[in-house]
Amino acid sequence: MKLSELGEFGLIARTTRQFTRFHANEIQGIGDDCAVIDQGNGTVLLVTTDILMDRIHFLRDKIPPELLGRKSLNVNLSDIAAMGGKPLSFFISIAIPENIPVDYLDRFFNGIREAADSEHVSLLGGDTTGSKQDLAINILVLGEADSQKCVLRSTARNGDIIQVSGPLGASAAGLHLLLSEPSETEWKDYAELIEAHFDPRARLATGQALAQIPGVSAMIDISDGLIQDLGHICEQSSLSGTIRMEHIPFNPLLMDLSRKHGIDPWKWILAGGEDYELCWTVSPEYAHKALQAARESGAPAPTTIGKLESGTGITVIAADQTRTFPNGGWNHFQTNGEIRTT
Ligand code: ADP
Ligand code: MG
Repeated sequence: MKLSELGEFGLIARTTRQFTRFHANEIQGIGDDCAVIDQGNGTVLLVTTDILMDRIHFLRDKIPPELLGRKSLNVNLSDIAAMGGKPLSFFISIAIPENIPVDYLDRFFNGIREAADSEHVSLLGGDTTGSKQDLAINILVLGEADSQKCVLRSTARNGDIIQVSGPLGASAAGLHLLLSEPSETEWKDYAELIEAHFDPRARLATGQALAQIPGVSAMIDISDGLIQDLGHICEQSSLSGTIRMEHIPFNPLLMDLSRKHGIDPWKWILAGGEDYELCWTVSPEYAHKALQAARESGAPAPTTIGKLESGTGITVIAADQTRTFPNGGWNHFQTNGEIRTT
């Protein structure tokens, strides 16, 4: 069988279903943004790890090393945010091609340190090795949450409202622009899109604020695109989601760029990925409170975008059409970002 037939999530399911869980205190193993381990004292330990690979996750000749460092930690912190948790410490393992100058690495670690200091997380260890070709960065973050407040993907309820913390699609639009060799003017005009791609921030304060709201039932960070990530909540909660296109927040610069470059902007907004905004579900009576808490925590554009119902899949309603997505967004080994309609 080809890897592309299985896809990223098929491969994860295939390899991991063989493994047994031996300890009763593992509240959540594979399948959520973090593993959740009960500490027996009213708190849970959160563990998450992500790898960033040159030419797959970043372009070493485009992203400044400080920003690569900052992004490497933030994408991991984002998974702690998605549980409503607080990060504590991290490990970094790095495979380095011989030709990388020490100055590059100093700048990279400066970026990591900046991000770590601003969230008060300590570096506890890691591993360092050579690489024949590409730079590879793996970070593992440990965090904690109150056991009663930790928010999983699998606990959404029928009738819950779907909300997001901020604009979607800017990172994918920024990546598109970078790949199209932008002119100096474009670089300046669309700086916000490029910044969204280079320098995402984990929405830790927002995740923690939402975890305090009793009606917030499920949460995920949008790393692989809205359809894909909301799809995980729906699948794992055995529900379907309906979202209204006109309610989804986006940066207007993205529309402008899409017109100039003749690209369907909804591909970026719905399936682009790497925005690292949060998507959560909340009971209707707490929906207003959740938006308010998100706003007060600094989320850029907390917005209600849809609703959960019984059934499966994600339906996107636009003024003139309805499209159903069984799945879509970034999936390693399968078509990148192509929205597939049924
Ligand atoms: P996220 O985007 O939040 O980092 P992923 O979609 O990458 O989450 O992963 C989904 C789940 O699969 C997570 O629980 C993750 O720990 C698990 N996972 C991913 N790759 C592997 C693997 N190779 N072996 C075991 N578990 C994995
Ligand atoms: Mg995640």
